[in-house]
Amino acid sequence: MSLLEYKRKRKFSGSGKTIEPKGKIKSSGKNIFVIHEHHASHLHWDLRLEENGVLKSWAIPKEPPTEKGIKRLAVHVEDHPLAYAKFHGTIPEGNYGAGKVEIWDKGTYELLEKNPNSMKIKIHGKRLRGDYILVKTNFGKKKNGWLFFRS
Ligand code: MN
Repeated sequence: MSLLEYKRKRKFSGSGKTIEPKGKIKSSGKNIFVIHEHHASHLHWDLRLEENGVLKSWAIPKEPPTEKGIKRLAVHVEDHPLAYAKFHGTIPEGNYGAGKVEIWDKGTYELLEKNPNSMKIKIHGKRLRGDYILVKTNFGKKKNGWLFFRS
């Protein structure tokens, strides 16, 4: 895990800087789960799962599934700091991801199974509750495409 890419993409000082947390690698002592609804140039949802002191993150172009039978593309993106789990607000114009960020769901998760290219988790959120699968598909130019669905 590393926050280097997170920090490289963002401007934390000077005029017009981002309001996002700079953050550091730090564990909460529980497995935090959060989904942000992000009104950037394209509306998407950001799934974040705490692992090894960072929030592993995936951008989901359509609303995350609450029921079985709907599979969503989830594009793996850079690790975010733990402090991001509480972040919401409007990222100023001119910054990476400019636009309104709201907390769509939050809670904790349990890791049920983990393989190199997939994981099964039990989500304890308000909107998402139950067992979910994340599986790497290698979709996309950067081969960072995964699928996220309720199992
Ligand atoms: Mn986003």
